[in-house]
Amino acid sequence: MQDAPAPLIDPFARAIRYLRASVTDRCDFRCVYCMTENMTFLPKKELLTLEELDRLCTSFIRLGVEKLRITGGEPLVRRDIMTFFQGMKRHLDSGTLKELTVTTNGSQLEKFAGPLFEAGVRRINVSLDTLVADKFAAITRWGRLPQVLRGIEAAREAGLRVKINTVALKGFNEDELFRLTEWCAENDMDLTFIEVMPMGDIGNEDRLGQYWSLKDLRAELEGRYALTDLAERSGGPARYVRIEETGQKIGFITPLSHNFCESCNRVRITCTGEIYTCLGQDGHSDLRAPLRASEDPSVLEEAIRKAIGLKPKGHDFDYSRQTVDGRVARHMSHTGG
Ligand code: SAM
Ligand code: SF4
Repeated sequence: MQDAPAPLIDPFARAIRYLRASVTDRCDFRCVYCMTENMTFLPKKELLTLEELDRLCTSFIRLGVEKLRITGGEPLVRRDIMTFFQGMKRHLDSGTLKELTVTTNGSQLEKFAGPLFEAGVRRINVSLDTLVADKFAAITRWGRLPQVLRGIEAAREAGLRVKINTVALKGFNEDELFRLTEWCAENDMDLTFIEVMPMGDIGNEDRLGQYWSLKDLRAELEGRYALTDLAERSGGPARYVRIEETGQKIGFITPLSHNFCESCNRVRITCTGEIYTCLGQDGHSDLRAPLRASEDPSVLEEAIRKAIGLKPKGHDFDYSRQTVDGRVARHMSHTGG
């Protein structure tokens, strides 16, 4: 048995415990704030194989990552992805990994909710911006609401705890704020609102992609419910409140604010094996070359340490001026949300 290696600590003394891994850049939806309709996807050979993904995640876990979130693109459209989840279960069983989770658009959950639970997944995030079928079709372009609702139902039946992620879009789902909140309460699901981020070229979609400040959204909730701030911190950009009337937890993800960078414990890897140590910065390092150069985990671990050594202090998104500053060119589906 090897000794446990020194944990990953970045230059600002933050321990890296949370890894988000994108397993594909492809998706069966084309959400207007995320992708253009005619996205060009990466050639398959650029992607890490499932075996390489396993080696990469395993190295991070050996170096102290305790929480692994699988994302994309749509992670559940990657062929044979359940093999990867089943492989990660060994780290849950050994206790080195504390949580294995996934962010999904829900389209494949009818099929995969049971297998995810069997692989040790207990909580999932499902992205859903509206409960109106026509609006759902408009915002996702290719998605269909009933399929996603059936998926959510299947997840709950399988024993998965579901959190709904909703991108706050002015003029789009403002009028559904209370409906979405109540629907989540009725179905015992937490709900997190996400501020729309300036990522990637998404064409001419301003009409549906209006920025709705979560400060304003929260004020609207406060007009109807009693909110209690919760001390809970995820090491990320989420803040939580409890709605006293329903007991449910509501999260607010404001990636544009700087108030979380000092406690940031996470890094992201793309489906091609690049590591981004800050969602809001373009700086990244390549882990695919060391991964492919040698089967020896120490080669990869050295590259991971080097990359963590470059983690910046924080990001530069700024909506406070007229233009969107600090914009990053890549799409959310590239780095994973
Ligand atoms: N396909 C999966 C899904 O939709 O849940 C996982 C990947 S998706 C990129 C992850 C999250 O990013 C989703 O909740 C999505 O709504 C969010 N997202 C995508 N583009 C965004 C943007 N420009 N601003 C804020 N959130 C965004
Ligand atoms: Fe696909 Fe998720 Fe992006 Fe929508 S937000 S296009 S579901 S990756």
